[in-house]
Amino acid sequence: MSAVLDAPPKERLPVELARLSKRLHRQVGQAVVDFNMIEAGDKVMVCVSGGKDSYALLDILISLRARAPIHFDIVAVNLDQKQPGFPGHVLPDYLRRLGVPFHIEHQDTYSIVKRVIAEGKTMCSLCSRLRRGILYRVAGELGATKIALGHHRDDMLQTLLMNMFFGARLKGMPAKLVSDDGKNIVIRPLAYVNEVDLERWAVHRAFPVIPCTLCGSQQNLQRVQTKQLLRDWDSRFPGRVENMFKAMGNVVPSHLMDRNLYPFAGLQATGVTDSGGDHAFDGDDCGPAPAAAIKIHHSP
Ligand code: SF4
Repeated sequence: MSAVLDAPPKERLPVELARLSKRLHRQVGQAVVDFNMIEAGDKVMVCVSGGKDSYALLDILISLRARAPIHFDIVAVNLDQKQPGFPGHVLPDYLRRLGVPFHIEHQDTYSIVKRVIAEGKTMCSLCSRLRRGILYRVAGELGATKIALGHHRDDMLQTLLMNMFFGARLKGMPAKLVSDDGKNIVIRPLAYVNEVDLERWAVHRAFPVIPCTLCGSQQNLQRVQTKQLLRDWDSRFPGRVENMFKAMGNVVPSHLMDRNLYPFAGLQATGVTDSGGDHAFDGDDCGPAPAAAIKIHHSP
């Protein structure tokens, strides 16, 4: 894919919306190119839940495809999990209007989750696991070569922080991965997109959003708090969240602590000066050096 993917849809928009459209299309196009997410001949199965993010993903991929220098197919898939009150007609109606091939998979995971998870406990983890397994199977049945999910930059950062806070590991949410069953490539083309932009885009495009709370499950409180923390940082310290995200693609194993990633045990002096090595941020991190150290440093 190339810069052709930068082009937004051709419609007259107010300046702010035109900028938003351009940014969204550029960011998705860039993520697709950077991670080689979509190749010629791919059949991309776009998972559409009825939430704003997956609607936006489908919307933007369709418009990028029209300008892409390569040919690929899109099929939208929704899993109807039989939550009480799920408006089963909304997505088929929307997808039909859009003119995109689609498949609705009916599986009553709601009953399974209700039976297995104790009343009052959050059901999302099991629900997502079941959903994932079903979607992988459907991808095989439809002959899809890629599975596109609607996770965005803020989902990825939340996952990184939650894994640090509660899992004691440095692990985020990848933009591209091999599925658990080893049979599928999963892609996240919204990886560079922030959630606030998706909220605005959903309003502009009037997506018929279906809430993910029909099942009555409480949202994971830790995730809600982590999301709030990031939003708070973003408003108080503009640029910090963006830098955190960039940091995920700029890892220095020699300055972390994972002995499996870096051979600390066998480290030998090289005799070669590394100008960028151990100095970055020393001043900021450690504050002013103690007077004694300064004296020793400057003594002839
Ligand atoms: S809110 Fe309900 S439908 Fe959504 S992931 Fe959680 S359990 Fe599943």
